[in-house]
Amino acid sequence: MKNIPYIIIVLIIASAIWGLSGYQKAQVIKDVPISQIANDVKDKKVKEINVEGNKVIATLKDNKKESAYKEEGTEIQKYGITQKDVTINVKNPNSGTALMNFLYLGLPIILFVALFFIMFRQAKSGNMQAMSFGKTTAKLFSGGKKTTFDDVAGLVEPKQELSEIVEFLKQPEKFQKLGAEIPKGVLLFGPAGVGKTMLAKAVAGEAGVPFFSLSASEFVEMFVGVGASRVRDLFQKAKRNAPCVVFIDELDAIGRQRGTGVGGSHDEREQTLNQILVEMDGFETDTRVIILAATNRPDVLDPALLRPGRFDRKVVLDLPDVKEREAILAIHGKNKPLDEKVDLKKIAQATPGLSGADLKNITNEAAILAARADETEISQKYLDEAIEKVMLGPERKSHVMNVEEKKIAAYHEAGHAVVGHVLKHTDPIHKVSVVSRGMALGYTWSLPLEDKHMYSKSKFQDEIAQLLGGRVSEMVFFNEPTTGAQNDVKRATKIAREMVTIYGMSDLGLISLGDRDELVFLGRDLGEHKNYSEQLSSSVDKEIMKFIDEGQKKAKEVIEKNKNTLETLAKKLIEIETIEGKELDDILTGKTK
Ligand code: ADP
Repeated sequence: MKNIPYIIIVLIIASAIWGLSGYQKAQVIKDVPISQIANDVKDKKVKEINVEGNKVIATLKDNKKESAYKEEGTEIQKYGITQKDVTINVKNPNSGTALMNFLYLGLPIILFVALFFIMFRQAKSGNMQAMSFGKTTAKLFSGGKKTTFDDVAGLVEPKQELSEIVEFLKQPEKFQKLGAEIPKGVLLFGPAGVGKTMLAKAVAGEAGVPFFSLSASEFVEMFVGVGASRVRDLFQKAKRNAPCVVFIDELDAIGRQRGTGVGGSHDEREQTLNQILVEMDGFETDTRVIILAATNRPDVLDPALLRPGRFDRKVVLDLPDVKEREAILAIHGKNKPLDEKVDLKKIAQATPGLSGADLKNITNEAAILAARADETEISQKYLDEAIEKVMLGPERKSHVMNVEEKKIAAYHEAGHAVVGHVLKHTDPIHKVSVVSRGMALGYTWSLPLEDKHMYSKSKFQDEIAQLLGGRVSEMVFFNEPTTGAQNDVKRATKIAREMVTIYGMSDLGLISLGDRDELVFLGRDLGEHKNYSEQLSSSVDKEIMKFIDEGQKKAKEVIEKNKNTLETLAKKLIEIETIEGKELDDILTGKTK
């Protein structure tokens, strides 16, 4: 469609050239008086005569042409030209020329009109785009396969809370009769990928109503006021389509506390947020529009959003536990040809801390791996590989370490493994490897026996020691630090800082000291970070150092005591690169020497 104007322009030029060439051809014919043609006929110079209306064209024997006009209505014989001397063809003057006239004159005009028409239309649609700038970008999901609560594994309590909303959407009278006001907004809290969007979709699916979905960041544009206008439009659209469910993802993008922003965009955010508050207040209780919003940072939301009449229901979605993980895997494995021997329970046990989205990703990765190997079924092997890929990053087999690097990496990982194995509060070691994954040169993978919701101080301390075990091992065996421990040091410091500033586990006592990371989130915590003195600040640093030092000492003690085990493991690692299962256990427990 876009090319049509160009095609028309080319056609116009082509027709102009064609017309011009026709004109030039006409020029070759010489205009002469009719008497001259008569003389030429007499002199037998003429091959044939064509008469078209009043025009007489003589073709001479040397193929030159002459033309002349005769008087209206007079026959050609009157000029002394007779059939006896020459062939005379008489043509209907209107037959050819009508078409020619049309082509010469009409076609360009038609082409010009078409061109203008198209240009006009395009300009108009451009205008329309400008007009729809303030309109909502919410996407409507209706038709297609409905998501229902059965598609969502686990999340028992959230489903229970939300089934009330489903009932209200289906039979509002039941509630209204008793004077019950149904919440207008429900806020879904939870980390990324736990199924907030899915659950919102399932509410609409269960109630059989349209589902509008958009991300809060879609409200905010470069121009102030657009967001508010989009909010108005969204709510109008929703009311027109009532009963319906509107889902606003990442509400914190606009729902952050007002008056705290740093940087230019907060004005617009505030206006947008105000508009949402106004619109939600303006809802009649019988408007069957339910706003579901999702966020993973409830702490930064504006309190005004959370008061009754707005998002007064809060539903918390947690990361799935081992049973839920198994159920999620079952849902996502349903449409995939899993091998009979696949043990979903085992996968669920090996994936603590992963969200529903991660688990979906694992089944998908496994399917891709199996397809790449030209298999018809997905076997456990591919699922295990997928778990490692998702949890630890992709393997980089091509990343070849030189002999020296590999040796250091092996002693480093063996250090983690031995400390992790010996200390009481660390998770069992599952696998040790010196194959690069993601950014790491090697990895020690420990897995908890069961999901944990509470951590003790000793666990944190042992974890710090395990993290530092790699570096300590390097120091014990090579007496020189390398950059390999960079990430370990960072993670250990983070744990130590949290022990001091968040969990109150240090000698400073039970005190919570604002998390400095919050600073990244513009504004809100600028004040909080300053709410303790420089003196306390330096005590915090000392406490952190203390935990790190203790961890380092503990790791060193363990490594000195188990030097032989560590060396056996490191040598085996250099030889076969990856060790797991019984082989690993035997080395760690000293059975293999
Ligand atoms: P969020 O909105 O919380 O970030 P989503 O709802 O977009 O997460 O979830 C991402 C994907 O993860 C979903 O499409 C779904 O396939 C999968 N998923 C997450 N939680 C579950 C669950 N409890 N049951 C089934 N699938 C889930």
